[in-house]
Amino acid sequence: MSNSENAVSRRQFLGKVGISAAALGVTTLLIQGDRSAEGKQTGVKKYAMVIDTNRCTCCHGCTIACLSENNVPDGYYRCWVKKIAKGRYPNVSFHFLPRLCNHCEDAPCLNLCPTGATYRTQEDGVVHVNREVCVGCHVCIDACPYGARFFNPITHTADKCDFCYHRITQGMEPACVTACTGKARIFGDLNDPTSQIAKYLNDHSTQSLRTDLDTHPKVHYVMADEAILNADYSALTKKEER
Ligand code: SF4
Repeated sequence: MSNSENAVSRRQFLGKVGISAAALGVTTLLIQGDRSAEGKQTGVKKYAMVIDTNRCTCCHGCTIACLSENNVPDGYYRCWVKKIAKGRYPNVSFHFLPRLCNHCEDAPCLNLCPTGATYRTQEDGVVHVNREVCVGCHVCIDACPYGARFFNPITHTADKCDFCYHRITQGMEPACVTACTGKARIFGDLNDPTSQIAKYLNDHSTQSLRTDLDTHPKVHYVMADEAILNADYSALTKKEER
């Protein structure tokens, strides 16, 4: 289906349900039935990522690989590296926090999506955007407390990391993992105790972003600095952070 056909079908959708795109901003219309997070992952896999910040050199290999692999439009990012300087000269340290969608187990973007375009793959827990169904209402973009989503000006739909689903379903790693020069990123199935990620999590203490929000992120960080772990991501613009 072409983009223009998609646009028509989205308009038809809006017409059928009798609401405007603006109204979607405050309307929660659940079309896919119960899409709450917990208890919906009935499959055997639980894909996740561990990022060891000790190993990140801020080379931006992950960012560039992601842009290329996913045809991300200029000026937008599915994955990026947040940099923060801490302290005052001469006692200054720099910290790097690679960022991407957390594929939250209780995802505000999914819970609030009015059309069901945001959904979770039952067999592996990955959070997706269905471009055929997305009406570009921005509700999910505003709902994500991590600033992980953006409005794609080419597709006119919400966009974000999907763990390079086209690659992982073919047995490959996400592009950012393959490109990481410091081997800081480990991707895999948390439900497989023999996987590298499960072993790494067992052997290391990890943190995730904004645990106070109870979103249960599936991106875990080793040795992330407190200064960046607890930032108010919802208040940061993309320009400030990237
Ligand atoms: Fe949704 Fe944001 Fe969580 Fe990703 S990080 S699942 S976009 S709420």
